[in-house]
Amino acid sequence: MLTSVLIIDDSVAVREQIIRTLESYSLFNRYFEAEDGLEGFKKLLASPVDVILCDLEMPRIDGFKFLTMLKARPDLQNIPVIILTGLNDRERKIKGLELGANDYITKPFDNEEMVARVRVHLKLKKLQDELKRSNELLLELSNTDHLTGLFNRRYMMEALDKEVHRSVRKGSPLSLIVLDIDHFKRVNDEFGHLQGDAVLQMVAMHLQKELRSYDYAARYGGEEFVAILPDSSLKEAVFVANRIRLAIQSTKFSGPPSELCLTASLGVAGFSLEPPLTVDSFIKLADDALYRAKANGRNRVEFHNPESAENPLA
Ligand code: GH3
Ligand code: MG
Ligand code: MG
Ligand code: MG
Repeated sequence: MLTSVLIIDDSVAVREQIIRTLESYSLFNRYFEAEDGLEGFKKLLASPVDVILCDLEMPRIDGFKFLTMLKARPDLQNIPVIILTGLNDRERKIKGLELGANDYITKPFDNEEMVARVRVHLKLKKLQDELKRSNELLLELSNTDHLTGLFNRRYMMEALDKEVHRSVRKGSPLSLIVLDIDHFKRVNDEFGHLQGDAVLQMVAMHLQKELRSYDYAARYGGEEFVAILPDSSLKEAVFVANRIRLAIQSTKFSGPPSELCLTASLGVAGFSLEPPLTVDSFIKLADDALYRAKANGRNRVEFHNPESAENPLA
């Protein structure tokens, strides 16, 4: 991994001494320098680094102001800063540390000590970055269905709750599609569980292909899928549901299930406040429509018709 450092000091001699020393220990791949806080901050915005060494007394923007600006930026505030202070600068050292500096070096400094301190902070920064990456990965895994790569049920429920609130707040339409593969048990029985899994992956792919980037596609469980369509009317969602149905019906399989005619049934519902829906009753409307699609012969789309409906909560 590439590592980089930024040295901010108004003294060319100090900057040169630091860079030459760090270079001789091959601690970094890239070296940036700036003559004051403003130039340093601009360089940082263009290219974030792993460690910053920063003088305190400088024209225009000094070290304290620089620290304040840095700590206000969530994307930059975790970069370790080592401040460069004078020998008897007790008060300023404390102020720098209070503003978020991680360490200090007193000038004139000993090269080996400077390298040792930089090394410690570079190592901490790397560990911190690794931790951040594995947390992000963990979060992604906890939201994902491992077989299909779609969102899982847990995340789907969270997203639906969020979208229902957004729809109420903005008065924008919101639709829900529930999909269940027809006679999926037969696929497993005739071709085996592994081929069954491949069919589930295929359906997930169609679902994702037919949806827009800001829709959510989730595996609800077993061979049931859910799509959340923000800013889509019921009519638009029924249109999309039919497109998904046709895509699944026209799937050609290679290998053993080549003669398989795969179909799915879909239920669609649009969110409404009249009568008021909760997340659960919203899902139930789409589920009821799905049930009708099954009862009416499968491989079809049914939808909840608000005009002819009773209060679903009654
Ligand atoms: P219907 O048309 O009424 O929906 O019939 P169906 O056979 O699709 O429905 P049923 O609920 O009877 O069967 C669902 C099957 O899905 C049974 C179960 O073994 C299978 N299944 C659930 N999860 C998985 C999975 O992760 N992989 C595979 N291969 N099969 C699964
Ligand atoms: Mg200075
Ligand atoms: Mg089912
Ligand atoms: Mg089924």
